[in-house]
Amino acid sequence: MQLPAPKSRLPGVGTTIFTVMSDAASAHGAVNLSQGFPEFDPPAELRELVTWHMAASHNQYAPMAGLPDLRALLSARAAASTGQQADPDTEITITAGATEALFCAIQALLHPGDEAVVLDPAYDSYAPVVTLAGARPRHVALAFDPESLEFSIDWVQLGAVMNDATRLVIVNFPHNPTGALLDADDLERLADLLEQYDSLLLSDEVYEHIVFDGRRHSSVMSNKRLWRRSLVVSSFGKSLHATGWKIGYCMAPGVLSQELRKIHQFTTFSVSTPMQHALAEYLARCPDFADNLSRFYENKRDHFLAALEGSRFRFTPARSTFFQLLDYSALSSKKDTELALEWTRSPGVASIPLSVFSEAAPAYRLLRFCFAKDKSTLVDAAHRLRAL
Ligand code: PMP
Ligand code: GLN
Repeated sequence: MQLPAPKSRLPGVGTTIFTVMSDAASAHGAVNLSQGFPEFDPPAELRELVTWHMAASHNQYAPMAGLPDLRALLSARAAASTGQQADPDTEITITAGATEALFCAIQALLHPGDEAVVLDPAYDSYAPVVTLAGARPRHVALAFDPESLEFSIDWVQLGAVMNDATRLVIVNFPHNPTGALLDADDLERLADLLEQYDSLLLSDEVYEHIVFDGRRHSSVMSNKRLWRRSLVVSSFGKSLHATGWKIGYCMAPGVLSQELRKIHQFTTFSVSTPMQHALAEYLARCPDFADNLSRFYENKRDHFLAALEGSRFRFTPARSTFFQLLDYSALSSKKDTELALEWTRSPGVASIPLSVFSEAAPAYRLLRFCFAKDKSTLVDAAHRLRAL
C-alpha cells in the first residue's frame, strides 16, 4: 500500500509555470516562447575553456564561496559599473544560479513572524521561499497603466504595506516579466522607506545587461544608502546564453554575506569547478563580453514586433529583459492561464500567463513571450499569432 502524502511544507504550490508550459509546448509541438531561455549557445571560446579546464583536472570541489579569481573579476566589474567596491573575499559568493542565491538570502535573513514584501507580478520563486522560512510574504502590485501597458513601483501601496515587521523587500529590475526599470530617484525613494523601517533589500538583477533604447540599468550597488542593507543577485545564465549552467552570484556587505554563506554551504556547498575556471578565464580575456547584449536583444525584440504587425495584439516595446508582453483584450476575454494553454495547442505558440506571477495584482489580459530566439523562430511564432 502507498504511504499517504506527507504534510506539505508548501501546500498551495504546484509545479512551476515554466515546467508546465514547456511540457505543454513539447506535447503539442508548439513554438516555445514560454520559459525564458536563449535558443543559442554560449560563445564557442567559453565552451572550449570548459572542456580545457576539465582536461586540466579542475574537477574537484571549488572553494565554498567560489573561485577567488572569478570573485575578483566580478568585484572589479561591479566597481567599474557602479562605483561600489565589494570585497571578493568576504562580500561575493558564487551560487548555483540566481535561484540558489535568492533561496539562501531569504533563508538567511527571515525569521518566523517577519514579513517580506514582494512586488507583483513577481518571479515565482520569491514568495514560496519566504513561506518556507516561516515568514509572511506581503504582495504589493506594481502600478499598471492600461494605456501604455507599462508598470512601475506603486510607492503609496509599498509605503502602506511596510511596517516594523518588514524585514526584507525583494525587488527585480530590470523586471521579469514587465521590463520595468528603476532610476536613481527610485533608488533614493527605496532607501528612504528601507531606512524608515530598518529593512533589508534583496535585489534580483539577472537582466542587468539587457536594457533597450538607450536606457540604463540603475544597480542597487550604485546607491550607497542601499548597498549597506542589500544583497544583489545576478547570473551568468542571461548574460552568456548559459541558463543550463546554473551559475550565479550574490554581492552583499560582509555581515550579510556571512549569513548567506552559512546557508549556501549546506545547500550546494560550492558550484561547478571547471565552469567557474572557464568563466574566470573568459571574463579576463573578453571583459567587454556584455557590451553588445542590449543591442543584440533589442534587434530580436524589434524583429518579433515587426513580424506581429497586422495582428490584433496590443503592445508597448519591452524596455528590458528578453520578454515581450502582448495584450490580448481585442481577441478574447478568457483568463490568461486558459488562453496560454489553448494557444499552445492551436495556433501552436506557448507563452506565460501573467497572473501566475501576481497574487495582489488585478487580472491582466497579458501574456509573456520570450524573444531570445532565432529570427526564423520569431517569424514562425508571429505568423501563427497573426492568424488569431
Ligand atoms: N530571477 C529572475 C527574475 C529570473 O528571470 C530568473 C530566471 N530566468 C532567475 C532569477 C533564475 O536565474 P538562474 O537561472 O540563474 O537561477
Ligand atoms: N527565469 C526563466 C523565466 O522567467 C525561467 C526559469 C525557470 O525555468 N525556472 O522564464
